[in-house]
Amino acid sequence: MIRKTRLFTPGPTPLLPAAQFAMAAADVHHRTPEFRALFLKVLRELKSFVGTRNHVILLTSSGTGAMEASVSNLTSPGDRVLVLTAGKFGERWVGLAKAFGCDVDVVSAPYGQTFNLEDVRKAIKIETRAVFMQATESSTGVRHNVQGVAELLKQSGRDAALVVDAITGLGTTHLDMDAWGVDVLIGGSQKAVMIPPGLSYLAVSDRAWDLMEISLNPRYYFDLRKERKNAAKGESAYTPSVALIAALGAAFDYIAGQADGDLAQGRAKLVENAESCAAMTRAAVEALGMRLFAPHAPAAAVTAVLPPAGLDSGAIVKELKSRFAAVITNGQGEMKGQIFRIAHLGFFDYMDTISLIGALEQVAYSLKLPGFAFGKALIAAQNVFASRAPDEAARRDLAMAGVSLPTR
Ligand SMILES: *Cc1c(COP(=O)(O)O)cnc(C)c1O
Repeated sequence: MIRKTRLFTPGPTPLLPAAQFAMAAADVHHRTPEFRALFLKVLRELKSFVGTRNHVILLTSSGTGAMEASVSNLTSPGDRVLVLTAGKFGERWVGLAKAFGCDVDVVSAPYGQTFNLEDVRKAIKIETRAVFMQATESSTGVRHNVQGVAELLKQSGRDAALVVDAITGLGTTHLDMDAWGVDVLIGGSQKAVMIPPGLSYLAVSDRAWDLMEISLNPRYYFDLRKERKNAAKGESAYTPSVALIAALGAAFDYIAGQADGDLAQGRAKLVENAESCAAMTRAAVEALGMRLFAPHAPAAAVTAVLPPAGLDSGAIVKELKSRFAAVITNGQGEMKGQIFRIAHLGFFDYMDTISLIGALEQVAYSLKLPGFAFGKALIAAQNVFASRAPDEAARRDLAMAGVSLPTR
């Protein structure tokens, strides 16, 4: 049979065709009224997508650039900061904070788990200037409790800024930075917004803008104050990735289009979509007799799975690729061979999820997993899908067609 390549990776994720067309057509100079109109539209939409009244800065860089910008703009050498880490991306915060001379306290949780909030509470010191964490840790498939940490910080009465890498959290989990008091929320283009890598964005609170005035760390390309000034005029400080910005505009049109033109509702739908794909996948792999790596706090962005005992997870990654051209990811770093990861963020739907589970059954069959029978994983996923309430729009459409649905 022929094989169609499909990405099931937690970034880059599958591309939205309309965004690819917009990129191809983006033959625009960045100091023109045409570009300014596009840039201002995308910046406005970013606020709705993030769900904030704060300024949002868009950078031409991968997600790590925005992480670095939050460290270099908010801290000074010798500042005490707290990093909450439970995986490769948490460890990136530690590396970044050290690179900019911070004195780093760390609260860690084992891979596959989230932090104990009591440990976090104890680690917040009078001198703590900033707390860095992930919303979802893509290397382990874990969701962290951002609201819980924000609440702790408030209760502590300390003045530390809360910086959240929501690069795979945005569009897969509910986040309310304004209500919770998050100071910086970071996103990236190759994740839930369905476009290629190369853009990152940060929503920045008033308090964080104030902190930038006293921070002594060096910055040049990633000077957020300079970007904010330029953004007010519809421009970026340096040549931006015009094509990716056009793609982002098209992606927001698509996401808003999923909810009658309301982008905030569209984002909620995207979250619900990721939750459904993730729940189907979790049920399916468990039905195949495999164990979830993060059963207690699973992220909707990506599901991490332990391979059957005695098997290297790479074997499953390889089989899916060679037989079905389905690209999933192995574990990162020392987790290589220990887990495999299947993504749900962005442009995935029911059909994608069901077909991957079908392919996974074929792989399990050829690996002769004990107790295997065709259909078990698919049945589990089908039941999950059927038991999740259809969304309101679908309900309305069906009601108009005279079909009433049983309530759960
Ligand atoms: C993808 C990702 C990043 C950013 O990685 P880049 O390769 O720099 O875009 C950061 N944090 C998390 C949680 C991610 O999933």
